[in-house]
Amino acid sequence: VTKPSAGMRSAMADAEVGDDVYGDDPSINRLEKIVAERLGKESGIFMTSGTQSNLSAILTHCARGEEVIVGNQYHVFIDEAAGASVLGGVALAPIDIDTDKSLNSEKISAAVKPDDPHCPISKLLSMENTVSGKAIPLKKMQQAKETARKFSLSTHLDGARFFNATTELNCSAADLSDCADTVSVCLSKGLGSPAGSVLALPKELSNKARRWRKMLGGA
Ligand SMILES: *Cc1c(COP(=O)(O)O)cnc(C)c1O
Repeated sequence: VTKPSAGMRSAMADAEVGDDVYGDDPSINRLEKIVAERLGKESGIFMTSGTQSNLSAILTHCARGEEVIVGNQYHVFIDEAAGASVLGGVALAPIDIDTDKSLNSEKISAAVKPDDPHCPISKLLSMENTVSGKAIPLKKMQQAKETARKFSLSTHLDGARFFNATTELNCSAADLSDCADTVSVCLSKGLGSPAGSVLALPKELSNKARRWRKMLGGA
């Protein structure tokens, strides 16, 4: 939890502004472009909070009756008021995390449901990094992604403190971002902004995620 520095306050005061609803806020357009480029994704969407960013991503990946496999101590499961279930009819399937706070392949595999009308449809693996102040090694993230891919699951990374993780892991933003299809980065945590997040994602998901953001009051 951080407060805006003097530099950030003056950058805000001097920022060129427009109306993001019409896509004509030059500062937001630039911010979205910079984050997307740094993370090696095609698009970026400014979100009013990390919770809204994760929720928009989950609702973009999953439809009603589908489920998200997620760590049982991850923010998406314990700290977001079950928004995906409440607003999207999406089930949350929590799994135990390892002592290093990562998701291991065996537990992910065991949580994936069979194609059986009794079960929800497993659709998304939601990862997190950092988790409770710990950076999860890149190798673990890559393994989790490969396991997800084996079961045709999409992947999302709640990277609220994404840049703290890349600093600790000494890797590039693109390397960590490559571990998931969509990545949410908070501006309001280690980066010191008073509010906001950016969701980085492939172009083909971008319109859908923007529609969810609008519906979630984030325009
Ligand atoms: C803070 C945080 C979020 C959500 O951010 P808000 O902007 O407060 O909604 C999501 N995930 C993690 C891990 C966080 O620490």
